[in-house]
Amino acid sequence: MAEFKCYICSEKAMTGEKFTFTNLGAVHYDCFISHRRKELGNEHSEELSDLAVILDAELTHLLVLLKTETHSEEGKKHLQSKYKEIEKSAGETTKLISSLHKCTFSQSKPFFRYAIQDLEIYILLSRCYRNLK
Ligand SMILES: [Zn+2]
Repeated sequence: MAEFKCYICSEKAMTGEKFTFTNLGAVHYDCFISHRRKELGNEHSEELSDLAVILDAELTHLLVLLKTETHSEEGKKHLQSKYKEIEKSAGETTKLISSLHKCTFSQSKPFFRYAIQDLEIYILLSRCYRNLK
């Protein structure tokens, strides 16, 4: 049984529990989502909720596969390859959730420029550009 430590609550994250991996390490699903919600405040709240539902479904799928019994070597191989597929997909969703960022001044880009009496006024779009690392 694999065992990891959640970097948010410092409790163990064990096989059979819903957890995922970010570049900071292992993290429980619930810890991850609530931490991200706090960090982002009102920004991207709907997108975060949508992604949280998707990740939850993927992690649930993984747990179901983990408990699935196989009766042949072939069946075992199919199960392992399916498990890897869903694991990859959950990793991608985790990345999308990690990439949601709060809008900062430097991330806003001037979109329209008006020249009024030699004064240039930049209208900064409130739209946030995602900081994809
Ligand atoms: Zn935790």
